[in-house]
Amino acid sequence: MIKSLLIANRGEIACRIIRTARQMGIRTVAVYSDADAKALHVRQADEAVHIGPSPACESYLVGDKIIAAAKATGAEAIHPGYGFLSENAAFAQSVIDAGLVWVGPKPASIEAMGLKDAAKQLMAAAGVPVTPGYMGANQDPGFLAQQAAEIGYPVLIKAVAGGGGKGMRLVESAADFADALASCQREAAASFGNAHVLIEKYIQRPRHIEVQVFGDSHGNVVHLFERDCSLQRRHQKVIEEAPAPGMDEATRAELCAAAVRAAKAVDYIGAGTIEFIADASEGLRADRIWFMEMNTRLQVEHPVTEEITGVDLVEWQLRVASGEPLPLKQDEMSINGWAMEARLYAEDPAKGFLPSVGKLAHFYLHDEIRVETGVEEADEISPFYDPMIAKLIAHGQSRDEVRKELMRSLSKSFVAPVRTNSGFLYACLDNAEFSEGNVTTGLIAASGDALMPPSFPSKAAVDRAAATFLEADFAFDTLPAVTLPSGLRAFRLNAKPWRTIAMETRGEKVLGDADATVGAFRLSGPFHTALSDHEVAVTERGESFIFEAPPRQAGTGHHSAHDGDILSSMPGKVIAVEVSAGQAVAKGQKLLTLEAMKMEHTLTAPFDGVVAELNAAPGAQVQVEALLARIEAAE
Ligand code: ADP
Ligand code: ADP
Ligand code: MG
Repeated sequence: MIKSLLIANRGEIACRIIRTARQMGIRTVAVYSDADAKALHVRQADEAVHIGPSPACESYLVGDKIIAAAKATGAEAIHPGYGFLSENAAFAQSVIDAGLVWVGPKPASIEAMGLKDAAKQLMAAAGVPVTPGYMGANQDPGFLAQQAAEIGYPVLIKAVAGGGGKGMRLVESAADFADALASCQREAAASFGNAHVLIEKYIQRPRHIEVQVFGDSHGNVVHLFERDCSLQRRHQKVIEEAPAPGMDEATRAELCAAAVRAAKAVDYIGAGTIEFIADASEGLRADRIWFMEMNTRLQVEHPVTEEITGVDLVEWQLRVASGEPLPLKQDEMSINGWAMEARLYAEDPAKGFLPSVGKLAHFYLHDEIRVETGVEEADEISPFYDPMIAKLIAHGQSRDEVRKELMRSLSKSFVAPVRTNSGFLYACLDNAEFSEGNVTTGLIAASGDALMPPSFPSKAAVDRAAATFLEADFAFDTLPAVTLPSGLRAFRLNAKPWRTIAMETRGEKVLGDADATVGAFRLSGPFHTALSDHEVAVTERGESFIFEAPPRQAGTGHHSAHDGDILSSMPGKVIAVEVSAGQAVAKGQKLLTLEAMKMEHTLTAPFDGVVAELNAAPGAQVQVEALLARIEAAE
């Protein structure tokens, strides 16, 4: 067994690999870029090596630096995780040439499956049914158009070197073919350095079903059953599960046997996934499931397979890489219950799923179920890498049970101010088609705004926040009734200190009726927690809201210490400064403009006063919560 392992990755997968390696008594070495100097995987590993600047192409994707780090620390083996260099045959070969153990398949197997056209030809020859289409060398636009017509519309144009859901074009009719082809080839050349495409029949009512396979260096290959990853957004997986809903034993046996044949055809060693596309218009039928591609690495969604089989796939990877045979034979494995995984991304559904970066001031994931994450509270989400920050995995006896378990977990989690897709995941899990197991890859696109999380809390959530303020001995109860800046009033009653509390969430004023609900919510209702004496967090349907009580002395003309602090709400660039230090300003006057995430934000004076401090110059890059200016109230 290897005694030390370098993990050539970051984030949740690096942490996941470190955990198993540690359990096996293997010393772990992390690598990190500038942005990741304080990242969780660095903190968790026994040792860590800095390998360069933040952009992945100058650090995590530089094979030589990673091999040098392994040499310098005496690591015996390299685990690539997923993404980055994991499917790079040349890197795998250099690892081997450097005398290190590569935790993955032979470079030749990676190579054989690397291009989708060659892989399909190979699979067809091995007797694995492949998606009908053209996968040859002729790239003449007229010829490809003729092939598309023969296949029959709709067709899918795919970059042979594509991945991650990129480099694909759905074409509905012949009239659109030429333009779609040209744009797909341009994207393929720019993103993958290879303009070659293949044409596939676009499968109707498509379901993405994949089979986990595993091979060892003694010639054994087994499968660990299927996963269903049909819930996708723009060809990217959102929620995955195992087994696949509606899969009968005979179909499963045929599908898994085809996957094992596929792996054997490329002499496969280690963990791999054979991805299939199924036409589910008449349920799952073996003659309507076709090979799509093979991922020659550990998959993001591997935990659902681990949950239903009880196998630690990373442990198997390390054993197999050390030359051991597979720990279990095919007939020693079976499916136990159901497992489902939801991918939590730092992104904002309300802004077209744009990545959301900044400090994870609050990061609490309900951990009664399995959580795989690469971050902790107070960590920084940088703009440099994939925004997936955690995976929530539920395992139970039935599909409905794990679906509800995931929903419960999302509603008891809280992440802020970084935005996440948590409310969107909740809505997907709650969707009627999804809960019936009636999922095709088009479900999310067809649902439109129905899956968008609520942009505003319900009355119940607002009341819950108001009640929490009261329970937490909110500072207001020592004050007389106050008039809030907007003219709202908070009332003092005899029995209860406050009946109605004015609060703000996401910049909007809301009124909560604490008196009516303080008892009713004690045992149930939205997840809530007091963050401070003036902030309460409530999570509703997976969506997190922060309520801020108005400033303690608002309306009295006095401003407390930090009311005049002008902070940047996101990392960004100062594009205009309208005032100078010492200048008198009126409430609402423009102070400066910030550009963040391709949007402009104007910051204004919160009250009449003078610019006591100014730390912003046009063109300057600023961090989240940087103090840009400070306004001192006029006497
Ligand atoms: P998977 O099925 O493993 O998600 P896909 O074929 O859907 O893989 O493509 C997603 C790609 O994005 C994969 O190559 C995966 O390695 C990469 N990826 C996803 N999340 C991350 C992450 N957090 N860090 C690095 N790469 C990632
Ligand atoms: P990638 O390498 O980007 O993962 P895949 O070939 O695995 O590319 O396809 C990604 C997704 O695109 C699939 O999961 C499926 O949702 C959709 N897709 C791919 N091929 C087809 C097809 N022939 N018909 C319908 N949908 C398809
Ligand atoms: Mg794929």
